[in-house]
Amino acid sequence: MLFSQLCAVCKGPGPSPCQRCVADMRAVGEMAPLEPLSGLWAAFAYAGAGRELLARLKYRNQRSSVRWLASAMAKALPPSQGFEAVTWAPTSPKRRRQRGFDQAELLARALGRETGVPVIGLLKRVDAAVQTGRNRSQRFRAPEFTTRRGPPTAVLVVDDVITTGATLQSAAKSLIRAGAERVDAVVAGATPLPYTPSSARPPSGVVTMRTHNSTPAEREPPWT
Ligand SMILES: [Zn+2]
Repeated sequence: MLFSQLCAVCKGPGPSPCQRCVADMRAVGEMAPLEPLSGLWAAFAYAGAGRELLARLKYRNQRSSVRWLASAMAKALPPSQGFEAVTWAPTSPKRRRQRGFDQAELLARALGRETGVPVIGLLKRVDAAVQTGRNRSQRFRAPEFTTRRGPPTAVLVVDDVITTGATLQSAAKSLIRAGAERVDAVVAGATPLPYTPSSARPPSGVVTMRTHNSTPAEREPPWT
């Protein structure tokens, strides 16, 4: 059988990601909530094939997996949450210029198509360079956002990866300040628990955050 598409992870013929690579991913689902988010969900652990898939989307602009990622995020969400808008935590303008796209926006738009919830660009990132009065480590810790317009009551924020959760917390704070009553978040990949063996499934419904450490790739801040 001939495939016009290659798996973004293993380069084998077939859909992207292929069944073998999907089988290598660990599903996550509901995560421990992070203030002020009302709920937080992740499709899979940011490890192994899941990490590779997102890295290829982010750094090599391999968009063949976007639809699959959106569908995986939609499946991770509980049914009928009543979201009035899907939005995303924008990457920095510099990164967007370098890559020519914002991976979080791509995922949010695909999730909107998947769920039928309107996608609205509600957040604007405040450039770290203009965040006066903050030292370098404070700026590194969490990006800041402002809102482009008044948000609806219930908003779902999308990002590609969650590591410490600082980006999504900051996005949620900004939306709540602007009038949203409930902000939830969904991500494609979540960094696994430091003590979870890579072969083990995390206990369902309970995944906590860890701070960035270990391998060089994981040391990168999640909001780049
Ligand atoms: Zn594959």
